[in-house]
Order: sequence, then C-alpha cells, then structure tokens
Amino acid sequence: MAHIKKILIANRGEIAVRIHRSAKEMGISTVAVFSDPDRTAPHVLLCDEAYPLHGITSTETYLRIDKLLEIAKNANVDAIHPGYGFLSEKESFARSVTEAGFIFIGPRAETIELLGSKTSARELLSGKNIPIVPGSVKPINNLDEAIEVASSIGFPVLIKASGGGGGKGMRLVYSAGELENSIERAQNEAEKAFSDNRVYIEKYIVNPKHIEIQILADNHGNVIHLGERECSVQRRHQKVVEECPSTAVTPELRSAMGLAAVEIAKAAGYVNAGTMEFLVDADKNFYFLEVNTRVQVEHPITEMVYGIDIIKEQIRIAEGENLSLSQEDVKINGHAIEARIYAEEYDNNFLPSTGTITHYQPSEGLGVRNDSGIRTGSEITMHYDPMIAKLVAHGRNRTEAIEKMKRALREYKINGVKTTIPFCEIVLSHPEFINGSYDINFVAKHFLVSDPLLEKEESIAIAASFVTSSADVRKISLNNKIVVSQTQWKNQLRNE
Ligand code: ADP
Repeated sequence: MAHIKKILIANRGEIAVRIHRSAKEMGISTVAVFSDPDRTAPHVLLCDEAYPLHGITSTETYLRIDKLLEIAKNANVDAIHPGYGFLSEKESFARSVTEAGFIFIGPRAETIELLGSKTSARELLSGKNIPIVPGSVKPINNLDEAIEVASSIGFPVLIKASGGGGGKGMRLVYSAGELENSIERAQNEAEKAFSDNRVYIEKYIVNPKHIEIQILADNHGNVIHLGERECSVQRRHQKVVEECPSTAVTPELRSAMGLAAVEIAKAAGYVNAGTMEFLVDADKNFYFLEVNTRVQVEHPITEMVYGIDIIKEQIRIAEGENLSLSQEDVKINGHAIEARIYAEEYDNNFLPSTGTITHYQPSEGLGVRNDSGIRTGSEITMHYDPMIAKLVAHGRNRTEAIEKMKRALREYKINGVKTTIPFCEIVLSHPEFINGSYDINFVAKHFLVSDPLLEKEESIAIAASFVTSSADVRKISLNNKIVVSQTQWKNQLRNE
C-alpha cells in the first residue's frame, strides 16, 4: 500500500482546480504546472507549488511528457494525476510515469492502450455477452469488406476512426455508392487528427440517447458502478448539458447497464475510475460505444447524486486501497444537471470566443456547484479547450434541479467573452428537454448548427415549439421552426 503525500496535476483549468481540492481534503500537497498564458490561473494560485512549462501551445507545454516528468522529479512528488484531455488517455504517458517511479492516478498503460482503440475494445467485447453497436470489430481493409459489412448491418452506417475522439473522424453513409469516397475522407480526417488512418463501420443508430455508466475498480478485483449520466445534448457530438439520472433509465435498465459496464471493466482488467458509454434506442436496447479511461468532464453530477467524491476514490485506488463502498452502498439521492460553459458564440455555430474576462461572478446558493478554472482578468485564447467552467445544480427531483439550474444560469455573469450560458438556458426551457424525450439529435434538430452527419437528413435543422429565455434569443413560431438569433433567421430565409 503506497501512501501518496504529494501529487503533480498534469493539467490546467477547472479539472486542475478540482483535483487540487480533493487532494487537499486528503492532506495531500499539490503541484501545479503552467504554460506562459496560464501564469496567474486559479490552479496555479491554489496549488501548494507551481512550476512553469515554458511555452504557449499545448504541444509546447501540457503535452510535454519530458517536462512534466522533470518537474515531478524536482518537486519530489509521489503521484501524477492526468485529469482529462491532454495526456490522460495516452498509454505512453501512463507508462513513462510508472517507469519513472511515480504512481499514475488512472488505469494501467496496457488498459489505456487496449480500450483507447475503439476497434480493439469492440474486439475484446465481441465474444462476451455484451451488446455492442453492430458493425465491424476490426478496421476495414478494403472496399469489398466495407460493402459486405455495411450490407449485412444495413444502411445508414457510420464510418468511425479506430483511434477516434472528440467526435472527430465520423461519416454518415446512406448507400453503397457513397462508401468508397466516405471511407477515403474518413481515413484522411483520422490520419490528420489522430495520426492513425484506420477506420471501421458501425450501424447508425437512429435517434438514440447517449447514456454512460460510471465505474470504480480497485486493485483487488472489486468493481462497482455509480449509475448513469445522460449526455444526449450534444453539438457536433460534443456534450453540452448532462443529467443524472436519465429519464429513460428504469431501475431494471440501470441494473442491466451497470452490470454490463462492470463486465466490461472486468474483461479489460480495469483499475481506477472509468466510464462505459452506450447508445440507448427508443426500445431501450443499449449498445456499447466506447470506454473513457479517465475522469469525465461530467463526473460532478454523479458526485452530487451519489454523494461520492470520484477524485478521492481515484487517489485511494491508486494508493492500493480497497473501494470505500460496495454496490449496496450506492444510493441515488435526487437529481443533478450540469451545464458546460464554453467560451463560444452559441448563435454563430459555436465558434470559439476569445478575449479577457473583464468581470466574473458565478452563481451561488443551495444546491449550486461551480467548477471553474477562470477568474476576472483571465485571458481566453485559442490555444486550449474553450470550456471554461461547469455549473451543476442538484435538487431533490428533476423539476427542482431544472428550476435551480435555470436560476443559476440567469445569475451567472461572465463579461469579456461570449459563452454558451444563453444556449443552456434555451435547452433547459425547451419542451423536449423538460419532458425528457430528447436524443442525440436534439441540438441539430432545434438549432442552426452545421453538422456534417445530419446535413442530408435535415438540411435546415430546426423544428418544434420554443421558449424564449434570453434577451438575444427571439421566439419565432412561424412554420414551427426555431432560430437562435435574428441574424440566423435572416440567413435561413435567404437560403430557403
Ligand atoms: P468520440 O470518441 O469521438 O467522442 P463516440 O464513439 O464516443 O466518439 O461517439 C460520440 C457521439 O457520436 C455519440 O455520443 C453519438 O452522439 C454519436 N455516435 C457515435 N456512434 C454512433 C452510432 N453508431 N450511431 C449513432 N450515433 C453515434
């Protein structure tokens, strides 16, 4: 059993602050690292020690294994927490950390490698009693193979990158004639994004919900699940609003999906916290999508509902401790919603918005949690992920959580950059969100967001009724269509 006394947090922003907080509550010292633009960021000011990575871009700083390990040695830490993004899912990082004699707070390098590739994860599970999205389990080698797989599962199909992540490298294909060209384009995209051009084919599940299961696994073979999170509110396959529990999940479905997630963890020899992602169709069939071998952005909603600090569990597991609770101890308490606050122009195709935060006053109050990595004066640049904060509301039930979130979003003040706060307000007031029937196409269906996957199906992707909840959002009931701003409405009319 190792006793961790000092942790290097190999990350920035809200997750670095988040990890620092749990570590401090456990009596552990924290070491921050920072790029030049992050010199005075909250994670740097909060941690016990902070070391410069000298540079600006991620490649020059947070992605530099050599620099991180040198700082870890100089600062004499016992362990390294990778957070999410950056190096968190690079098996080479986990391996280098352990080889240098530090504890990696996450799964073993071999597990990250095995599950990091969508195809090797599918291959691992294909022989087991776990439903995976129908399609190929190995990368596609040639067109004939692609035609065979696609015809056997039926069109439409999705071409996906084996090494995919961040919603990149996916192509929707409606017929055999489009396959060749789409595969080529997907391979090019995958090569550019992940330096790995392997692609495979999955059945395109129509209008599913994205529902994922949080698991915790220790070094002694104990694996439990902490229920589900629904993350169907996505723009360009990236999550914006998440909730726990999901309106679509009955206690029976929760047990079945939880069991499947635990089985997946066991099959992969998984240790530490992880997330098994699934798609759930209208008939409540669930299909395994992929495993995220790190702490998820949306982990706080599970923490609020289950009263468990996932970061602390990660640290305890890394120390070699047994899980602090068993499956029977895991009890749902109320409902939580997370709204991701991105520095983005929500009414202009979610383009990143950069600038200096001139005023920052996050919301407070009973049941409101704000995990943020910014403060007044923070510079929001193009160099890093545009997510700057996460607002979480926890209520006794879903209605209370929704009302609390709406109130908290209205209170939240960020000046200097545009954010997705008004967009989240619209989502929270939307009838389809309120009745819980929304699926992964919710944003594309109701808002003007360019989405290569849906261009064909819904060229102008707007529908249904609409509730106005922000000054710059106009209610236009004509044709039952929704637009998020006057400019977009004009553009839409022009295109029709
Ligand atoms: P990434 O690792 O790039 O995030 P995922 O496999 O996790 O890719 O998929 C991201 C999102 O893309 C899903 O949440 C879902 O919205 C959509 N998606 C992925 N696979 C399918 C599929 N087979 N059918 C329908 N939608 C899918």
